[in-house]
Amino acid sequence: MSTVYLTGAGPGDMELLTLKALRVVQEADVIIYDRLANPQILKKAKNGCEFVYVGKEDGKHIMPQDQINETIYQNALKHQTVVRLKGGDPFVFGRGGEEAAYLHERNIPFEIIPGITSAVSAPAYAGIPVTHRGVAVSFRVVTGHESPDKESSQIPWENFKTDDTIVFLMGLHNLDKISKKLIEVGKAPTYPCAVISKGTTSQQRVVVGTLENIVERAQGIPTPALIVVGKVVALREQLQWFRH
Ligand code: SAH
Repeated sequence: MSTVYLTGAGPGDMELLTLKALRVVQEADVIIYDRLANPQILKKAKNGCEFVYVGKEDGKHIMPQDQINETIYQNALKHQTVVRLKGGDPFVFGRGGEEAAYLHERNIPFEIIPGITSAVSAPAYAGIPVTHRGVAVSFRVVTGHESPDKESSQIPWENFKTDDTIVFLMGLHNLDKISKKLIEVGKAPTYPCAVISKGTTSQQRVVVGTLENIVERAQGIPTPALIVVGKVVALREQLQWFRH
């Protein structure tokens, strides 16, 4: 019987891969991988392992999700050990849940191997703790893919007035609209925020600013990138540690 491992590849730094993920990668007969999974990980596979690229970045899908689901399923019919390798954590905006449900409906056994999500680790490598005593008592991870102007938005923008840290994934292309929306719902234009590009990798770049100047400061920064909004951003002055 085959097993599909929906596996988190971590945020970029190869050493942030879990031991369990490394083990299944080494045992895999086929690895179905994304753009965001560090390609160095594939080098750990055994001889004869097949590789299937279903690349996807910032919602620009090279292969539509239903086709990815079907590709995983078809490989499960052919192979014993199938690894579906995804950037970060498979259940944090990774559509891992949809892939697991598709396999469940077809009676294919699967396991989830959580990964270190970029939502927490990229800020950590930038010297920004997502919570901090007396500064932020909680954090939320929000999709930035959806435009804040959207009428039927499910994002509770009105709740974002508090000092809880907000991490937007997939939001760089909406940075302008997101920062304006946060000012509109009551945050100060001088409220701290940061953009982190290629976090945890040797190409990591961090831009720090405020809601009113971040768009200008982050101009031209490459993806993948996330946005951190919160007073915790100021802690970077003391906590910045990562040198390439
Ligand atoms: N499952 C992934 C997220 C997938 S959504 C995870 O847990 O990390 C893809 C988004 O994640 C990107 O648009 C970007 O916002 C963010 N992202 C992924 N890797 C990143 C990295 N190394 N640095 C900064 N942002 C990253």
